[in-house]
Amino acid sequence: MPLHVTLPDGSPLELADGATALDAAQAIGPRLAKAAVAAQVSHDGAERAVGGHATNGHPADGGAAAARLVDLNAPLHDGDRVAIVTPASAEGLDVVRHSASHVLAQAVLRLWPGTKYAIGPTIENGFYYDFLFAEPISDADFPRIEEEMAEIVAEDQQVTRSELPREEALDLFGAAQQPFKVELIRDLVAAAEAEGAAVPIISMYTQGEFVDLCRGPHVPSTGKIGRGTFKLTSLAGAYWRGDERNQMLTRIYGTAWATKEELQQYLERLEEARRRDHRRIGRDLDLFSFHEEGPGFPFWHAKGMRLWNAVVDFWRAEHVKAGYEEVKTPIILRRELWEMSGHWDNYKENMYFTEIDGHPFAVKPMNCPGGLLIYKSRRRSYRDLPLKLAELGLVHRHEMSGVLHGLFRVRSFTQDDAHIYCTPEQLRDEVRGVIRFMLHIYGAFGFTDPLVELSTRPEKSIGSTEMWALAESTLHEALKEEGIDYKLNPGDGAFYGPKIDFHIKDSMGRTWQCGTIQVDFAMPERLDITYTGADNEEHRPVMIHRALLGSIERFVGILIEHYAGALPTWIAPVQAQVLPVSDRHALYARDVRDELRMAGFRVELDDRSESLGRRIRDGQLQKVPYLLVVGDREAEGLAVAVRSRTEGEKGALTVPEFVHLLRDEVAERR
Ligand SMILES: [Zn+2]
Ligand SMILES: [Zn+2]
Repeated sequence: MPLHVTLPDGSPLELADGATALDAAQAIGPRLAKAAVAAQVSHDGAERAVGGHATNGHPADGGAAAARLVDLNAPLHDGDRVAIVTPASAEGLDVVRHSASHVLAQAVLRLWPGTKYAIGPTIENGFYYDFLFAEPISDADFPRIEEEMAEIVAEDQQVTRSELPREEALDLFGAAQQPFKVELIRDLVAAAEAEGAAVPIISMYTQGEFVDLCRGPHVPSTGKIGRGTFKLTSLAGAYWRGDERNQMLTRIYGTAWATKEELQQYLERLEEARRRDHRRIGRDLDLFSFHEEGPGFPFWHAKGMRLWNAVVDFWRAEHVKAGYEEVKTPIILRRELWEMSGHWDNYKENMYFTEIDGHPFAVKPMNCPGGLLIYKSRRRSYRDLPLKLAELGLVHRHEMSGVLHGLFRVRSFTQDDAHIYCTPEQLRDEVRGVIRFMLHIYGAFGFTDPLVELSTRPEKSIGSTEMWALAESTLHEALKEEGIDYKLNPGDGAFYGPKIDFHIKDSMGRTWQCGTIQVDFAMPERLDITYTGADNEEHRPVMIHRALLGSIERFVGILIEHYAGALPTWIAPVQAQVLPVSDRHALYARDVRDELRMAGFRVELDDRSESLGRRIRDGQLQKVPYLLVVGDREAEGLAVAVRSRTEGEKGALTVPEFVHLLRDEVAERR
């Protein structure tokens, strides 16, 4: 009896009884069959039992119409919907990457027989496999492993699925002395028993001499992983099951792509990201460091502080122009305040605590509650509104040690916060003003066209339905009126209100969420803040929380990577470096440096006894925008020979001429 399946475009396909997904691909076309790596199969619920075992022989997957990714040689059933999957799709590429991890394990076992293999999942852009080697290996072994992997791909071994009862599976891996696999099977069985479910069938995938415990699906044969489309990228220690009480294993990372070209492009992106890594540049340019004594807490060095201050000086000046006042609130505040603000109930896992005179206090994870106390410290009239109070607030938030990453993920950072208190009538205009301000600030740092997202009420939230509806519609309108395209993120708002997030795009095409605008009707209610209206009655103001750069620490990290350390002159930690040709010119060089410092620039002197060529090279490596060489001629003419980072030799300029040039460049933030 033939079986009938439906293709993604809705067209029917008739196949012989017992046909597989590969047969379906072949029926559609030989090119598709050749490219195919797996299939996506779903079944309309009516004809199938849900839960337990399906009537027609293949296991039910709960949701009747949910598509399952299956092997190409999986049998099809009458009424299935079938989509053939190739590496051109994300699902197909994932199957290829996962299959590449099996090939990696097979290669490792060929080269180091007796190695214990643990798990090998896919990750973003690739895969890894964890091993317990008898002798440590290093990335110097990668070429050998890659060669063996290429050999396995060339052998084009069939990859076959088999399903075994648990005893047989345990025997198989027990005999092979693979303790991690034995433990995984025992856990599978125990988990099923704990739920009172039937003990699962243990599925295995075999290719040549190599067997792995796996759910699949996999490519039908190892040759489907294209020659030259994969590469091993790095090696790291990883605890078995991520638990530091367990054995430390060796994790080998790899990447795999649909084509050689895609692999090449990825490797170039990876190399570029390494070159721009702010942690490396931060060390090379002596900007900041991290220490065991304060994990996740950045230490800013002198040059790093110059960069920091340049960013903050600009930020302050622009805030004054935009009508903000700056305030500062304490880092440690009493427990009751956090209970009132809702942080105690909604944010406790991320907070640090301490005690003063036997009373519980918390280290602030946000600046808002403290800011509200300033608002409350005196009577406010409608004439004071909108009141815009900005704060560069140092906040602490607990992050797991495993996720800490340079300046990008830290445990203490400076939020460029502001709270705007206004009447409900002023709200929309204020939100629009913040949007325009945000775009202006990003533009100054070289970031244009940020991606914008609007997030609405989450499950865990405070405040009434009416408040949320009004706040959400106000944000929608403000964005529309500013002509900004945005993406909607339902349920992703803060617990106290909806928000607009801004993601800037860096020179590598990566996006970074920095700015946020959050409307909050709840906090003014909770902390009971009011203003006196024109009617002489007390009214409740609305509060806008907003940050532009987000965390100054993280933003500086983004700037460093965006510019690969070659920061624009207006924020560069060293704007110019004076290089005397010889000792004879040291005195004049010092005068030049002092004069430029007096003019307000960040200038250094390099009078080390190294050769001039060497000092010029070092200055270039330090990405200094201007190197100023001074010798006899310059000393006589009260001049400097200017070498620009972007334009090369600019010839001799008198010191006042150079001051003029630098002043213009800084003023225009070029
Ligand atoms: Zn697998
Ligand atoms: Zn706030």
